[in-house]
Amino acid sequence: MSATSNTWTRETAQAIYDLPLMDLLYRAQTVHRENFDPNKVQMSRLLSIKTGGCAEDCAYCSQSARNGSKLSASKLIEVERVLAEARKARESGSTRFCMGAAWREPKARDMDALVAMIQGVKAMGMETCMTLGMLDDTQVVQLRDAGLDYYNHNIDTSERYYPEVITTRTFADRIDTLNRVREAGMKVCSGGILGMGENGEDRIDMLVTLANLPEPPDSVPINMLMPQPDTPLADAKPVDPIDFVRIIALARIMMPKSHVRLSAGRSDMSDEMQAMCFFAGANSIFAGDTLLTAENPEESKDAILFAKLGIQPMEAESEARVDAAE
Ligand code: SF4
Repeated sequence: MSATSNTWTRETAQAIYDLPLMDLLYRAQTVHRENFDPNKVQMSRLLSIKTGGCAEDCAYCSQSARNGSKLSASKLIEVERVLAEARKARESGSTRFCMGAAWREPKARDMDALVAMIQGVKAMGMETCMTLGMLDDTQVVQLRDAGLDYYNHNIDTSERYYPEVITTRTFADRIDTLNRVREAGMKVCSGGILGMGENGEDRIDMLVTLANLPEPPDSVPINMLMPQPDTPLADAKPVDPIDFVRIIALARIMMPKSHVRLSAGRSDMSDEMQAMCFFAGANSIFAGDTLLTAENPEESKDAILFAKLGIQPMEAESEARVDAAE
């Protein structure tokens, strides 16, 4: 089967996932080298522009007002503060600046500030990404016209398991927003989280949904749940590291041209596990010491790990892919 035929089935994907690990890794690394420089990793920086008090009930999230979390709700932060953070991120090597707001969807009154943030970050020569919840047709156009490069909207898990994790919106709502973003001409960033009590088939079904979108996402963040106190998943069982590496390899094989991002959970991963994930085809990380609210390895730790592995930060994405014919 062609890896870009958009007709992946669970059975085909499962057969690849179940290969002996060395065969799976070899195959994933081969696909990776056909599409990317294997020694470069794209670095994004994530800033929370509006924290806490979210109306959604995502069971993994410490920002949900419904989870009894003690995290207090903030207002949308000022544009100047966002630009100051973006400047720092650029100076430390990040090429993409991701801005996340804990909203079900943005309100009309927030749009002018969001547009100013996008325009300001773009003017620094960085790629821009936002994650703001669901978007309607007008908002999609406003963000695109401001120059937004990427929109992040994770599907989180399989369609079957989704209602176990979130009840305030549906899987179909998620797909609708993703299609709206793509149709407006922006790049899509969408992935999910392992370790929420889903089974192995749910993990594979999540990748099948992403790979079978009209176009696979340009970025695919794969998160390992970092259980947050006071959330329904506070006591979730940790993910087996080899299962995690297998999912990264499968994502690389199923979506050969996408950036597969090692996202939340990296601070709980050993250097060896991160190295295996990079070998399996992960080629993007969040840099910096916090994600939206969860811990992330400090930049100096990442620099030491990159030096040990001979990995270089990737230039802006447009220059990152290798020509498969080379
Ligand atoms: S994951 Fe996002 S949408 Fe869900 S509760 Fe947290 S901030 Fe809200």
